[in-house]
Amino acid sequence: MEASCPSMLYRLLVDRFLDEVPSDEWRRTGKGLDWPAPENATFEKIAGAVLVQNANWRNNASKAVENLKKMGISEPFKIVEASPALLREAIRPAGFTNRKLKALYEVSKLMLNVRLDLLDDYSLKRKLLNINGIGPETSDTILLYAFNRPVIPVSKYAKRILKRFCNIHLESYAEWQTYIQENIPRNVEICKTFHALLTEFGLKYCTNKPKCNICLIKADCKHTMIQPVNR
Ligand code: SF4
Repeated sequence: MEASCPSMLYRLLVDRFLDEVPSDEWRRTGKGLDWPAPENATFEKIAGAVLVQNANWRNNASKAVENLKKMGISEPFKIVEASPALLREAIRPAGFTNRKLKALYEVSKLMLNVRLDLLDDYSLKRKLLNINGIGPETSDTILLYAFNRPVIPVSKYAKRILKRFCNIHLESYAEWQTYIQENIPRNVEICKTFHALLTEFGLKYCTNKPKCNICLIKADCKHTMIQPVNR
């Protein structure tokens, strides 16, 4: 059976691009790529997913996460007890301070009141989406990296690369997610690795103005079949 376009893309990125993924951005495991925080650092990953929205991880969000740790406020009960001024100071490097502060506070309260790890995927996602400042991509990022659920967060990079590489045009977040998830194995390591690869590839090669002439997968890309580049 012929491989689907997303699964072919996944394989190509693993084979040709994985070695270029910065190891300070993603943690290498024996099975692929994971969030940079340690395996059991659930709250750190949740805070990271909230703080990285509309921000760069290396220069902004990771500094805010580090500040929370240095200031001793990287656990839910400490967040809800911390003064807003201290929290604001800690997360300032991530930008959108007021919005992210409220989301961090609300998700901490939720974690103190509900055993999120016991919820099924649907209920967990609904609980997270009820928080102002947490949208579909952030909630799926939390499901995947903090709770090891096999879902794909649909980032702007994922859409951009798939649009070009597979010549597919979809509208809603849910349509994109269904398309990707139905065409790759529903395996948590694959979902984590694919999301990481798409993010980094979208930052390095398939940028707004794509660098097709130096792209590692241009020979299989439908975009370059429509608009040929020098090989
Ligand atoms: S060849 Fe160009 S459009 Fe296709 S994946 Fe590479 S950078 Fe993106």
